[in-house]
Amino acid sequence: MFKKILIANRGEIAVRIIRACREMGIQTVAVYSEMDKEALHTQLADEAVCIGPAPAKNSYLNMENIINATLLTGAEAIHPGFGFLSENSKFAKMCKQCQITFIGPSSEIIDKMGNKAEARKTMMEVGVPIIPGSKEPITAAEDGIDIAKEIGYPVIIKASAGGGGKGMRIVNSEEEFINSFKMAQKEAMNSFSDDHMYIEKYLVNPRHIEFQILADEFGNVIHLGERDCSIQRRHQKLIEESPSVVIDEDLRTRMGDAAILAAHAVKYTNAGTIEFLLDKNKDFYFIEMNTRIQVEHPVSEMVTGIDLIKEQINIAFGNPLEITQKDVKITGHAIECRINAEDPDHNFRPSPGTIENLHLPGGNGIRIDSALFCGYKIPPTYDSMIAKLIVYGRDREEAIKKLRSSLGEFIVQGVKTNIDFQYKIINHPKFQAGNVDTHFVQELMSEEE
Ligand code: ADP
Repeated sequence: MFKKILIANRGEIAVRIIRACREMGIQTVAVYSEMDKEALHTQLADEAVCIGPAPAKNSYLNMENIINATLLTGAEAIHPGFGFLSENSKFAKMCKQCQITFIGPSSEIIDKMGNKAEARKTMMEVGVPIIPGSKEPITAAEDGIDIAKEIGYPVIIKASAGGGGKGMRIVNSEEEFINSFKMAQKEAMNSFSDDHMYIEKYLVNPRHIEFQILADEFGNVIHLGERDCSIQRRHQKLIEESPSVVIDEDLRTRMGDAAILAAHAVKYTNAGTIEFLLDKNKDFYFIEMNTRIQVEHPVSEMVTGIDLIKEQINIAFGNPLEITQKDVKITGHAIECRINAEDPDHNFRPSPGTIENLHLPGGNGIRIDSALFCGYKIPPTYDSMIAKLIVYGRDREEAIKKLRSSLGEFIVQGVKTNIDFQYKIINHPKFQAGNVDTHFVQELMSEEE
């Protein structure tokens, strides 16, 4: 096994990875920006190296500095976490050139799946269902209009290099098209320096269902069931759960098979997620693949008992998967709430500041993944997610009760958070009945106005 791993990330995911390494007897190296000198990941790791000033581009996205820190400390592998360099093929390639193991798929696979328009094409070729839309990436608005006419409005314009809901626009009619296309393209250019776009039919009231997969270097691919991530605000996930109330054994098998097919199509290795939209007729369509660990991975861990970070490390080391599809048993129900430092009264704008008082809920079936501590100063520079509350119950009803109890107990003072908003969501009769789609949060907010 590896003796030492460097974690190229911060916040709760860096802490999560440090903990997994510690359990596996692997030494850890944290990297931190000048802003994160006191951060929990910096303190918890066996060693810590400063990699630059606060702005991410100078530190957590600074490939040379991270590679240098790895070589200097003698770490053999880098775990990139999520965000930052986790889906950067250039970084994966640099690691390889420096004989450092990148804990994730190869740069070629990241390239193939990271370009969403290309990934659609690959899926179409192997027979994984995709949403009707463009077959190739496009740059001219006029080409998009023709496609939109063919598939019919509403359509959604997306950035090929997109992520985090950026560079996306819903268009209801031809009159709006050119303007929306140009706006989405501009956003894509600003966020990803890539102006390639694609068009999809916009599905009305779908559910977001994704499958966690694990693939080793010997061609073994398994899935760990689904996560329902339909509770979203502005295309960003807020609550995730496993299993989904709308997936029965037959549909799980069919979607799981499609996910495995998708992974085989690119000879995928390591952990990955195949995202689908599911419409009211229970037809499912591939939307994208994430070639990294995801924020919501704990819900799959809770219902399968499999530690995804340890599996990632094992696979990257070159070990074969020790579990087969038959060994994967989904028991009970897990739900995750993302706790963000943001102000619900001001359009959920980030609310950085010092944690003056903190009480984290606990008890049977309650898990908190967080890097918070009393006195910690949440910087304005990075993501506003400060904790993940994950509950596990024998069934969904019990999980919701645990969620209600632990959200009620959760105290974060000094900054504004979305805890009360999450409490509202989980107490809503529609959520409790499992009768939600990707528009639920928007509807809830309009109800309140
Ligand atoms: P990103 O990579 O930016 O997160 P995705 O392609 O994964 O973008 O889509 C994010 C969310 O946007 C989905 O979970 C869904 O709610 C919504 N969405 C994306 N494509 C469609 C579509 N064709 N029809 C309806 N909703 C969509």
